[in-house]
Amino acid sequence: MGTYAITGAASGIGAATKARLEADGHRVIGVDLRDSDVDADLSTPEGRAEAVAGIAAAADGSLDGFVPFAGLAAATGRPGSQMVSVNYFGAVEVLEGVRPLLAAAEHPSAVLVSSNSTTCQPNWPVELAELCLAGDEAAAREVADADPLGSYPAAKAALAYYARTKSVAAEWIGQGIRLNAIAPGLIETPMTAAGRTDPLTAEGMKMYPLPIGRGGNPAEIAGLTAFLLGPESTYFVGSVLFCDGGTDALLRAKDWPAAWELDLSAFRA
Ligand code: NAD
Repeated sequence: MGTYAITGAASGIGAATKARLEADGHRVIGVDLRDSDVDADLSTPEGRAEAVAGIAAAADGSLDGFVPFAGLAAATGRPGSQMVSVNYFGAVEVLEGVRPLLAAAEHPSAVLVSSNSTTCQPNWPVELAELCLAGDEAAAREVADADPLGSYPAAKAALAYYARTKSVAAEWIGQGIRLNAIAPGLIETPMTAAGRTDPLTAEGMKMYPLPIGRGGNPAEIAGLTAFLLGPESTYFVGSVLFCDGGTDALLRAKDWPAAWELDLSAFRA
C-alpha cells in the first residue's frame, strides 16, 4: 500500500480523494489551511515551504503520489492575485518540493488539477498562463488582479501546460515520475455551491451546459485520480484528462485532435 500527499484535503474533491485512497488501504498525508495533518497557507512561499517540510516529516523518505487540490474559485471581492498564487504557485512549488520524495518511490505518480474552464470559459488572458509557466509570480499576480474572472482558467491552463511540457523531461519521467493532469467540469462541492449564490459567477453557472444533465460527484473525480495514481495507469505521461459530463465535447468538439503541418522534404533528401 502506498503513501500519498494531497493538498486541499479538508473539503470537496480533495477530501473525497483522501477518503477513496484511505478506503483502498493507502496512507494519506492531508494538507490544508486548517484541520489537516499539515496545516499550511499555500498562497505564500513560506506556507509552501512549511507544506513541503510537513509532508517530508510525515512521509518517511518516499512518496508514491502527490495531488495538489487546494484551490480558490473566482468570487466577489477575491483578488485574482490570491487565486493565481494558490491555484498555480501553491500547486507547482509544493510539487517541485516533494519531487525528491517521489523520485525515491518505486512507481511514483503526480496529478495536477486543471479544469475544463480552460476550454469552456472564453477570453482568459493567455499572457497570465505564460507568466505562470515562466515562474514569474510577481508579474502573474499583477496581470491576474486586472482580470480576476479570467485568472481562474488562465492559472488552470498553466497547470495543464506544466503537465504537458514538464512530464516528458529528465526530472520527471526521466526519474520515473509520471506527471499528468485532470480537468474536471462542474463538480458539486462547497466551491460550486458558493459560486451559485455569488453575483459574479451565478449567471455563468446557470447557463453552463451539462450534456449529462447534472453536476459531477466528488467521488467521480476521486476515482479518476486514484486510477492515475495507481498501477493501472502506468503508460499515462503528460495526459490532460477531461471529466466533465460532456461540456468540453459539446463546446469544443473538433478543436483537438487537430492536423498539423511538417515539411518532410528535409527527411527525404
Ligand atoms: P473546495 O472549496 O471544496 O476545496 C478547496 C480546498 O482548498 C479547501 O479545503 C480550502 O481550505 C483549500 N485551500 C484554499 N486556499 C488554500 C490555501 N491558501 N492554502 C491551503 N489550502 C487552501 O473546492 P473543490 O471544488 O473541491 O476544488 C478542489 C480543486 O478542484 C480546486 O483546485 C478547484 O479549482 C478544482 N476544480 C474544481 C471544480 C469544481 O467544479 N468543483 C472543477 C474543476 C476544478
